Amino acid sequence: MVRSTGYAAQSRGAMLEPFSFERRDPSDHDIVIDILYCGICHSDLHYVEDHRRNRIFPVIPGHEIVGVVNRVGSSVSKFQMGDVVAVGCMIDSCRVCRKCQDGRENMCVERPTLTYGGFDRLSGRPNFGGYSNNYVVDQNYAVRVPETLDKAGAAPLLCAGITVYSPLRRWKVRPGQRIGVVGLGGLGHIAVKMARAMGAEIVVFTSSLGKRDDALAFGAYEVVMSTDSVQRAHLKGSLDFILDTVSAPHDLNIYLDLLQPEAIMCLLGVAPEPLSLSPISIILGHKALVGSNIGGIAETQEMLDFCGQHRITAEIERLPLEQVNVAYERLRRNDVRYRFVIDMNSTSSNGTF
Ligand code: NAP
Ligand code: ZN
Repeated sequence: MVRSTGYAAQSRGAMLEPFSFERRDPSDHDIVIDILYCGICHSDLHYVEDHRRNRIFPVIPGHEIVGVVNRVGSSVSKFQMGDVVAVGCMIDSCRVCRKCQDGRENMCVERPTLTYGGFDRLSGRPNFGGYSNNYVVDQNYAVRVPETLDKAGAAPLLCAGITVYSPLRRWKVRPGQRIGVVGLGGLGHIAVKMARAMGAEIVVFTSSLGKRDDALAFGAYEVVMSTDSVQRAHLKGSLDFILDTVSAPHDLNIYLDLLQPEAIMCLLGVAPEPLSLSPISIILGHKALVGSNIGGIAETQEMLDFCGQHRITAEIERLPLEQVNVAYERLRRNDVRYRFVIDMNSTSSNGTF
């Protein structure tokens, strides 16, 4: 077994506390990673808050992991000791279904094994996430971090990045299009940078007045206060595509109204309560409301390479692991610019948080 330590929530809504545990014995196909950085995704907070009361505890969250390979199994060919690698939201899948065979493990018919909050397929043990010092993972579920990217700023790409990249690619966002990004948080700000790199014109819808200048600096063409119907009026029927990244209940209909006929709005945020949809919002104009869930492993590597090429990383606030509860409190208040990243080699005394 590989001994590990991290910060866990022991029960629903609990503060995170130091926790020791063991990871599986590395197999011939596994690599062992010393974790350098782990982003804090809003999904981590949703998990700990467990609104649906169906989660497994204790939990160590964390699925935006960047680290260094410190051990390789005898059959590992993809990585070597010392490589800078990353692990995102999933660490295994059935590998035989049509989706897995197509490299879309995120849609595995048995559902992929998640980085935390599930059970390891080999050992049957609970999986603990990246707010910890190491990870044991099959080489096929790890990806390589381009050398051009700052390692800490790259960590959020492993969930926030792939979650926005995948739909931007699937629905072929391209030059000449005007697209909307709703919510300028972890996902939203990376979406702006990526869509800009893909040549689109971006309109950001934010509920935070103070984010306007940042949105423009990330590449937005226009910033609209989502609460202000007057500011939205001129955009009616004009957008080619919308990515909705909002983590809380909100009105979908006002955004569907801004789409062109036959255009698509893609939901990414997992509001803890149902959202209401007026049928007429999609019936008129033959519009589509779709969802998207992270991306496959090959697509995650493609996304990292795209970011390496365009020098795209997240805007981050680094913190030591001991401060994770402060980060959660601030994330609850929508007070983060724009992603917290845990620095595993930092302590409270030398942290910049
Ligand atoms: P985040 O950093 O907290 O950003 C969410 C943004 O939503 C906030 O920055 C805020 O943007 C907006 N917002 C928050 N509360 C709001 C409210 N009451 N009304 C209107 N807007 C509000 O979260 P994140 O990590 O980007 O994650 C966003 C959502 O995506 C979460 O629900 C997360 O669980 C989900 N997610 C889904 C996937 C997937 O595969 N589909 C993957 C990862 C995360 P403004 O301040 O600009 O308004
Ligand atoms: Zn996430």
